[in-house]
Amino acid sequence: DYSLKDADPEMHALIEKEKQRQSRCLELIASENFTSRAVMEAVGSCLTNKYSEGLPGKRYYGGNEYIDQIETLCQRRALKAFGLDEEKWGVNVQPLSGSPANFEVYTALLQPHDRIMGLDLPHGGHLSHGFMTPKRRVSGTSIYFESMPYRLDESTGFVDYDMLEKTAVLFRPKLIIAGASAYPRDFDYPRMRKIADAVGAFLMMDMAHINPFEFCDVVTTTTHKSLRGPRGGMIFYRKDPVLGINLEGAINNAVFPGLQGGPHNHTIGGLAVCLDHAQSPEFKAYQSQVVSNCKALARRLTELGYKLVSGGSDNHLVLVDLRPLEIDGARVEKILDLASITLNKNSVPGERRYLYFPLLTNVSLLALVPGGIRIGTPAMTTRGFKEEDFVTVAECIHSGVQLTLEAKSSAPGPKLKDFMDYVEAPDFPLRGSLSA
Ligand code: PLP
Repeated sequence: DYSLKDADPEMHALIEKEKQRQSRCLELIASENFTSRAVMEAVGSCLTNKYSEGLPGKRYYGGNEYIDQIETLCQRRALKAFGLDEEKWGVNVQPLSGSPANFEVYTALLQPHDRIMGLDLPHGGHLSHGFMTPKRRVSGTSIYFESMPYRLDESTGFVDYDMLEKTAVLFRPKLIIAGASAYPRDFDYPRMRKIADAVGAFLMMDMAHINPFEFCDVVTTTTHKSLRGPRGGMIFYRKDPVLGINLEGAINNAVFPGLQGGPHNHTIGGLAVCLDHAQSPEFKAYQSQVVSNCKALARRLTELGYKLVSGGSDNHLVLVDLRPLEIDGARVEKILDLASITLNKNSVPGERRYLYFPLLTNVSLLALVPGGIRIGTPAMTTRGFKEEDFVTVAECIHSGVQLTLEAKSSAPGPKLKDFMDYVEAPDFPLRGSLSA
């Protein structure tokens, strides 16, 4: 039984390089974090060897005495970490990640082609909330369900609840989804609850880190972002029937056997460890530091003259609109990457650049060369950064933007080809990604 280094030196060397990259870089991707050694020990444990289809006490395989205890402990800690009454709320901790968790909820609550409304991706929503372009249904959610995204008020950068209400009354969705990947503000849950009730829809929140339980029927979450756990997902559901549906049965059946097989027990073990830590005073202090750091970052960026979507942030991320400077997020992301500052390019509300690369017909220019950048504070707060450090971070980003402007003025023209010359990255348009 060899160590990784002896058994596979090539993979060992690559992991070591990634480890060094993670410790060298300023990690500002809003959806990333550094999990603890204890979580990684559980994730790297023998739990990965075990099959346990089903739920605690109701498995399709033998030998699950300890796995049952691990999953039950994880469920109990999940409810406790979010202050939920076990009589009223249940949780499924088996979703393999955030997107499968969302699709499992849709499978549980909807029939194929039922109507849904989530925040549009170019306005900060997530792919799994039903994104489609004028030419293509992009995510499984928009392929299997009828999606009518709601949007921000472009003049304020806040969700346009009036328009959401008007559209919901006409479209009559069966499910309304709150939550986003790149929206720097809280959602107005009471308002969304009212809209959902008026049209007879379920209300689901795909939460970043805020507490929406009072107003929602179902809450999904990833586990590897603000929560600082292993990569995974959870689905919280009300135990009482909603709109005539027993959510507990429907959701558990949608996870298994609907869409998944054997749970990833190593992840569930790591998640239980992180959920225990999430109840500690240190973690609560960490969470409020994440928000204070984000406010300090937003303030300094504003002083430096940047336009922030919605003018600031209530949570762990800011979205900078670079269009007034006539540069885009892709170029700034690339320049900052060269200086070991990692963040992601992001579309900003109001962009109208749904052009298509002739040879990359399924990739929109908006996704690859969008007009903004998204900056998050969770990961560097884990590494001990305070408000004054995020003032410095804002200044570093500012230097990157200045460099990009210089590069632009030295380039012969505004076309992508000219930029590729000056950043020396011929593979550039193929490396684009949507924000997670
Ligand atoms: N929901 C939201 C709001 C997200 O930001 C993400 C980010 O990735 C997801 C769902 C999808 O999670 P995953 O990448 O784990 O599938």
